[in-house]
Amino acid sequence: MDPFDDGFLDGSSCSTDFVTDDECVEGEGGMEGTITDRSTQSWSNANSTVEIPRSSAFPPEPSVDGVLPDTVLISSDAVFFYTNADKLTHASVNNFNDCFLIDDLMASTHSPKLTQLSESADLLNILLHVIYDRNFAQFSPPLDLVLATVDTLLKYGVLLDQVISPSKPLFEYILSQAPRRPIDVYICAASHHLHSLAVPVSSYLLSTQLSSITDEQADGMGAIYLKKLFLLQEHRLNILKGLLLEPPVQHTPTLSCGFVEHQRLTRAWSLATASLAWDLQPDKSLYIIQTTLSSLGSQLSCQDCRAKLHERIKSVLTEWMMAPRTIE
Ligand SMILES: [Zn+2]
Repeated sequence: MDPFDDGFLDGSSCSTDFVTDDECVEGEGGMEGTITDRSTQSWSNANSTVEIPRSSAFPPEPSVDGVLPDTVLISSDAVFFYTNADKLTHASVNNFNDCFLIDDLMASTHSPKLTQLSESADLLNILLHVIYDRNFAQFSPPLDLVLATVDTLLKYGVLLDQVISPSKPLFEYILSQAPRRPIDVYICAASHHLHSLAVPVSSYLLSTQLSSITDEQADGMGAIYLKKLFLLQEHRLNILKGLLLEPPVQHTPTLSCGFVEHQRLTRAWSLATASLAWDLQPDKSLYIIQTTLSSLGSQLSCQDCRAKLHERIKSVLTEWMMAPRTIE
């Protein structure tokens, strides 16, 4: 029997109410090679029995608040997800891509409505976790799958700013993946106007050469967010330039250290900062700045000059550490 022929999928003609304990036989463990936690169940009608993979996260049992699933979403790879129509439609502004007709929602039936979707089980698993506001990090889904889920959420009428905001599982997971692929995450955030996500992700793009951004990437993030990235990098470069241009303050002249010695320190500072400026980057490391400037100390015999140098280096590092690291 083909479990997906018309007769089986039609809730009205399907002989299966929710499987009973006698009918349902759980498989052992999850399936290898998937990120969806699945098990199998036996589904019987008058003539035959079929083994059906189903999501362990969305089983045919009542939810924690006692609501019995009334809708079965079937993935393109034939995994069953037991859900609730009210939950799906309330999360959607397009009636979950018009999967539910008013008649369906009003109908009183003990049979679940079966709906075939075109998404894979792995994607559907993430999508439903998002709609149910559940954490899905335990599945460690690849970033491409999660970004595809974002687009699919739009398809099913879920407003992204409702599910991708700080502290939401989808927001936190995408942000956790940003260090590995910041440009892709930034494009996703920018293209969907998810500013609260684009801001923290931009901090991972300080080392990105803007000249290396492809036409496709620029088009993906759009002119406004490309400009924000450009302004961030330019702002940081200007801050660093300003910090390096300012030499240590000169101490009050003494018998052993006066104008000539002070000029020597200023020249040494200029030479050292010129080497830093030669390779000026928006993400110039504190360590390189510190080691380059601190090396000047060995050239100074005056303790007062050393103290002023130390103060200036400390000030440069502090201000560089506090320089804006994200877009506005
Ligand atoms: Zn001195």
